[in-house]
Amino acid sequence: MITRTVPTWQYPRWQDELADLIRDPRELFELLDLDPSLLPDAVKASADFDLKVPRAFARRMQKGNLRDPLLMQVLPLGEELDAHPGFLEDPVGDLQSNPVPGLIHKYQGRVLLVVAGNCAVNCRYCFRRHFPYQANNPDRKQWQQAIDYIAADTSISEVIYSGGDPLALADKQLAWITRAIDGIAHVKRLRIHTRLPVVAPSRIDEQCLTWMTDHRMQTVVVLHINHAQEIDEEVRHSVAQLKAAGITVLNQTVLLRGVNDQVSTLTELSEALFKAGVLPYYLHLLDKVKGARHFDVSVEQAKMLQESLQNCLPGYLVPKFVQEIAAKPSKVPL
Ligand SMILES: *Cc1c(COP(=O)(O)O)cnc(C)c1O
Ligand code: SF4
Repeated sequence: MITRTVPTWQYPRWQDELADLIRDPRELFELLDLDPSLLPDAVKASADFDLKVPRAFARRMQKGNLRDPLLMQVLPLGEELDAHPGFLEDPVGDLQSNPVPGLIHKYQGRVLLVVAGNCAVNCRYCFRRHFPYQANNPDRKQWQQAIDYIAADTSISEVIYSGGDPLALADKQLAWITRAIDGIAHVKRLRIHTRLPVVAPSRIDEQCLTWMTDHRMQTVVVLHINHAQEIDEEVRHSVAQLKAAGITVLNQTVLLRGVNDQVSTLTELSEALFKAGVLPYYLHLLDKVKGARHFDVSVEQAKMLQESLQNCLPGYLVPKFVQEIAAKPSKVPL
């Protein structure tokens, strides 16, 4: 029997939190006292890729500060609409490795399941901002196809729930898929790539922890946190619950100009992660997706940051700096 920490305060239900996202740029501008002259551009850019911000995340932003590192990740800007050579709709070639709907098999031994098309938050730099989720939003019959694919390939030892955000899906469905995968003996690990415990920490509750752990596989949760200010008391609590359930918790970060492209910022992030019980895993160079050029950090600068981090942190707090290059058999180290 796994003992779990009992919440000491009452959260809103996560379903309510997800039903009540900030979706209207006007509301975000009002809530955070932002310069209204930027609103028309924000409205235009959000017509291309929706604005979506959970209130629990917005509460961690500083009012009136356009440089707030959390706000910058979600604020639609006019420059997203400018075309730039080299910034593509599918920069990582996922659409070439999509053998059955909802399944991406690019790397040896691991498959990625797009279990949910949507997210609780829309990060402006998201490499899936143009991903055709409609064609990858399978029903149960199509899930069976993905499960059969995994069952037929004994080289697959790890199944990764991805999205969108897998935790945007209901626990009942996640429990169903997890049971089916648990029935495939060669799958040893279940990995969940999610940002929900960060942007809407109430998502980690008893029902969620039950399907995450109620099977023979080992469970790994990989969070997505880009800045130390994203980690507040609620996030620490959701991580503590995952850890108490015996789940390994890692983090991946995207290197973003103006958000976390400073040695001090990345050092603070690693320290804050470890304090919360999370180990840094990857630091991704930005995928060159259309609309995200203003977040781009050069490879040279990334290399300098990597070296500086190595010089001022213990090795286990330095994330692996990687790039995703289409058709390569793994993420590519810098
Ligand atoms: C990143 C990724 C994985 C996982 O790679 P790891 O190096 O094991 O973290 C698996 N499949 C796809 C398609 C990916 O993009
Ligand atoms: S949480 Fe991940 S998948 Fe969702 S919008 Fe952000 S970067 Fe994209």
